[in-house]
Amino acid sequence: MSEQYEAIVIGGGPAGLTAGLYLMRGGIRTVLLERVLPGGTPLNTGRIENYPGFPEGISGRELMERFTAHAKAFGLPVREFAEVLSVTRQEGLFTVTVNDGALTARGVIVASGTEPVRMGIPGENELVGRGISYCATCDGMFFRDLDVAVIGGGDSAIEEALSLANIVRKVYVVHRRDALRAQKILQERAFRSPKMEFLWNRRPVEIAGSQQVERLVIEDTKTGRREDLPVSGVFVYVGSRANTGFLGDLVERDPAGFIITDEGLATATPGLYAAGDVRKKTLRQVSTAVGDGAAAAVGLERYILGTQQ
Ligand SMILES: Cc1cc2nc3c(=O)[nH]c(=O)nc-3n(C[C@H](O)[C@H](O)[C@H](O)COP(=O)(O)OP(=O)(O)OC[C@H]3O[C@@H](n4cnc5c(N)ncnc54)[C@H](O)[C@@H]3O)c2cc1C
Repeated sequence: MSEQYEAIVIGGGPAGLTAGLYLMRGGIRTVLLERVLPGGTPLNTGRIENYPGFPEGISGRELMERFTAHAKAFGLPVREFAEVLSVTRQEGLFTVTVNDGALTARGVIVASGTEPVRMGIPGENELVGRGISYCATCDGMFFRDLDVAVIGGGDSAIEEALSLANIVRKVYVVHRRDALRAQKILQERAFRSPKMEFLWNRRPVEIAGSQQVERLVIEDTKTGRREDLPVSGVFVYVGSRANTGFLGDLVERDPAGFIITDEGLATATPGLYAAGDVRKKTLRQVSTAVGDGAAAAVGLERYILGTQQ
């Protein structure tokens, strides 16, 4: 017999924890399934300065500990190390299969976030964990007083480059365009940092090293000229991919794989909602994930109670 709930939330990041909090507060019997520990991406980011209510900023880890405690205060069961493998729907009931069993519910909120995209260049797969990383907060300390490269020019790349600059000797920012996409405030800090050097109009073509990363080969996108960058670490921020593999064809996706929802965050399948970074949206932040979690929970609550408009 599978365990029965009214609602299941998949993913314990800001969106999932908010959805769980709202559902429990609304009296909907819910369980949250998280493949590792609750907290999501902010567990591995640096200081969060743009989440309202914390004028001094707050570490991502502390913020997410507060989110988790808040959801649990409303009685939300958070099941850790419960990776969702598939979701199916039959006769109005969802079956969610996890690594150690199956659960059923009338409604599901998918808040499984994203994971970093790899560059797909020679040497990358071989040297992941041996100098190539997708998380400066997790791995930066291994590169104390060494030279590293950061690939990308968006918010994540520049935030992570700034945090690396506190630890390493030099940060090369390798960007395929001639200007950054990151927010102005981050750009200004980065341009002020004496430890950062910007390599514009360059794309990485190979990472080389026998046991560890020894050099990054970059190519000038205008002239095609290649050069070697002697670095011990390469931190990659070239985009993210939505975690939706377990959903089969229950949802519609945009060409990049993000879940398409309506304004109420409902997907193409009745009773199935999506919230946070996993869905097609213009801004992926903690604040927008929180808004999504709340909206999806209220949408699902109305669906379950039959009070949809
Ligand atoms: C380097 C970096 C810096 C950032 N800095 C900021 C910042 O300063 N301010 C800001 O507002 N935002 C920042 N963000 C963005 C912010 O982290 C995200 O927008 C936010 O975490 C999205 O929340 P989410 O709940 O949608 O997804 P996530 O936080 O990614 O959570 C998704 C959760 O789902 C779980 N999961 C995935 N698949 C499964 C599965 N099959 N079964 C069960 N669980 C699963 C994951 O383990 C994870 O815990 C940053 C992001 C990065 C990468």
